[in-house]
Amino acid sequence: MGAYNWILIDAICPNCGKTSVICAQTHVGATYSGNDNTRFHDNYYKPGDMLLWFDRAHPSYHQWKQGNHINVLPDNLESECCYSKCTTCKLECYAVVAFNDLKITQVEIIGTLDKWSETHYK
Ligand SMILES: [Zn+2]
Repeated sequence: MGAYNWILIDAICPNCGKTSVICAQTHVGATYSGNDNTRFHDNYYKPGDMLLWFDRAHPSYHQWKQGNHINVLPDNLESECCYSKCTTCKLECYAVVAFNDLKITQVEIIGTLDKWSETHYK
């Protein structure tokens, strides 16, 4: 599997029903390479953060879009249904996260794995 990052989401867990930190694994803005200072892998973010990534002029810039939406989205937008884990009950769930030009703009839905988003590949 490819490189990934983490998004820590404060939300109500769909498994245990408690207010918790949901840890979502995202492939958006992730690669094993990076720039001089930073590798774009295994970084931790919160909703509203900008993902660390190459400058816009870099030839690999467009590769930030590593989501799994079944439709082709506009150039500046990306969406991923992320495998996630509740840090309270440790059970897996999913979180659908929206991105706009490398910014984590919205957590759209968090659900149990048996109700995986119909608009995203597994
Ligand atoms: Zn939980």
